[in-house]
Amino acid sequence: MGAPAGPARGPAARARPDAEVGLLALDELEHHERLNALGPDIMAPTDALERGGTFDRAEAARRIRGRGGDPVNPVILDQTMVAGVGNIYASEGLFLAGVDPCRPAQSVTDAELGALWGTVHPMMWDGTTRWGRTQTTPPAMQERGETHWVYQRKGKPCLVCGTPVELVRLPPYDRATYLCPVCQA
Ligand SMILES: [Zn+2]
Repeated sequence: MGAPAGPARGPAARARPDAEVGLLALDELEHHERLNALGPDIMAPTDALERGGTFDRAEAARRIRGRGGDPVNPVILDQTMVAGVGNIYASEGLFLAGVDPCRPAQSVTDAELGALWGTVHPMMWDGTTRWGRTQTTPPAMQERGETHWVYQRKGKPCLVCGTPVELVRLPPYDRATYLCPVCQA
């Protein structure tokens, strides 16, 4: 009966009446305060559309380590440090890179940041190609119901070493942050 239900298509379909939606001219873009404050775009593509291909790692490292003693997890969630990393990818990426999310940002090495981007890029790229919940583990693990390494797994055994996964909340955002105290020691 009637037209099929479902979201309307077209650019205006999701705009809320109170949302700021508009197009910027190039000269407006250059002077846009909030956009210019953004850190390097983690998914910045090359001409070959390789995601992360032109991500400015040196600038991201400079901004991140410039935060001194602040814990690294909320620092990488700060979009003025790196643009694009969300809470799930922060926990999962730091786990796979073996970096304690509570570590002072200034102490994280280029090699550790390299390992972080190296895990986050494929996870985020994979996330753009499918619908539904973010999953960060390899397909064989997902088939066993293991969809995340540590995210939302507080108290459950680490999938690598068996140690119970811990939950911490770090300032200033107090977002739920998950870690293995052994793999990320
Ligand atoms: Zn572990």
